[in-house]
Amino acid sequence: MTNGAQISFIRSGSVVLTRVCSQACSYCAFRSSEENVLSVANLHENLYRIRKSGATEAVFICGDSPQEYPLTLVALKKEGFSSFADYLEHSCKLALTYELLPVLSVGALDLFASKKLAHVAALIRIPVFSSDLFGAGKAHENSRRRTFGNAKIAI
Ligand code: SF4
Repeated sequence: MTNGAQISFIRSGSVVLTRVCSQACSYCAFRSSEENVLSVANLHENLYRIRKSGATEAVFICGDSPQEYPLTLVALKKEGFSSFADYLEHSCKLALTYELLPVLSVGALDLFASKKLAHVAALIRIPVFSSDLFGAGKAHENSRRRTFGNAKIAI
């Protein structure tokens, strides 16, 4: 018997690019002060592992605007990138070479980065939050970019 409903799913794997984040949400257990990025060699290893697991999608994850931290920029430079947007673009292109659809879950992107990444990412997730979380004593009190207004601009 069927009621006509269909359920579909995509098998995906996650790649944490960096835990550095310019925001400070009070509920966060992800953020770290270690200003580093995943090396290109480790990117390859992660994507290979994900592809081997049978997944078809690689979800790249990081904190919001890690490029605001000087040591993160130094780490990017060491890996041969002049900007975080370049690093994200390279990560997406690399995923495609492993026949994985690249998905970006990387916080708020500026217009320059969004335009640059639109042609290589299969999906760019835009964080949208209730304005109830913003304000004194609220979860996003110290996360100046986690506002409903910013999400609307990004969309
Ligand atoms: S944006 Fe907030 S939830 Fe996301 S990593 Fe940064 S502090 Fe954590």
